[in-house]
Formats: sequence, C-alpha cells, structure tokens
Amino acid sequence: MICPYCNYKESKVTDKRTSPDGIRRRRECLKCKKRFTTYERIERTDLYVIKKDGRREKFDIKKLEAGIEKALEKRPIPQDKINKMISAIDEQIRKAGKKEVKSSVIGELVMKKLKKLDDVAYVRFASVYRQFQDINDFKQEVNEL
Ligand SMILES: [Zn+2]
Repeated sequence: MICPYCNYKESKVTDKRTSPDGIRRRRECLKCKKRFTTYERIERTDLYVIKKDGRREKFDIKKLEAGIEKALEKRPIPQDKINKMISAIDEQIRKAGKKEVKSSVIGELVMKKLKKLDDVAYVRFASVYRQFQDINDFKQEVNEL
C-alpha cells in the first residue's frame, strides 16, 4: 500500500476493523512513519448459509455476533478481543469466495475460535449450537474443562 505522504511502498497495519461493508485498516508508513487509513470493500450481497434442514438464509454477521456476545456474557474478555475474533471469523468465511456456506462450517469455526478465547463461552455456544442433540456430548465438553 503506497504511502500518500511520501509514496513509499511499504507500510505496516496497526489496526484493523471490519464493518458491514468493508475492512478499514490503519497503516503506518515504514519510511516516514505517518499514519493513513485504507479501506477495502467487501462484496456482501451474495453469501448464503445453508442450514441443516436445507433452507438458505443470507449470511448475517450481526446474527452470529449476537450469539457470540451472548456466549461471552459476563466473561472477562476485553471487547476488542471479541471484535477481532468476529472480524476474523467473518473474513475467514468470506475468504473462500463461495456463494454458499454450510451453517455447520460456520458453527465449527466459531467454536474453534471461542475455544481459544474462553472455555466457558465455548461450552455455552457449543451447547446452544448443537441444541443438546446429544446430552452426552455436552457433559463431555463440561467435564473436559
Ligand atoms: Zn511515508
């Protein structure tokens, strides 16, 4: 990314935020050290989630975010860590450039990320996600803590 101040070609990313229609990056020029912002638009119109019963639904990160926030309720995890994780999930889901994604793929990805972040939140999310289909699974998750 070319620096708008000195035209130097290299910069480092100091902050990254995903909004509903793009990724905003704060960059710092490696030469003059000035900071600037770049914006990358993400195509968000045509990604669909295929649910277990075969229904299609437009992918909505806000819904996923609500579920994750719920799982993390009252957990001592800083908001910026949560935001970063949600951004990473969103990015990873869209990265493949597919038009459809199975809800199970998203669920597994969220659980993987949550497990790294917070065990309690992970179990909460996993229990809702799997809808207690198998109570033994849930017990096992709890026992592993
Ligand atoms: Zn520069």
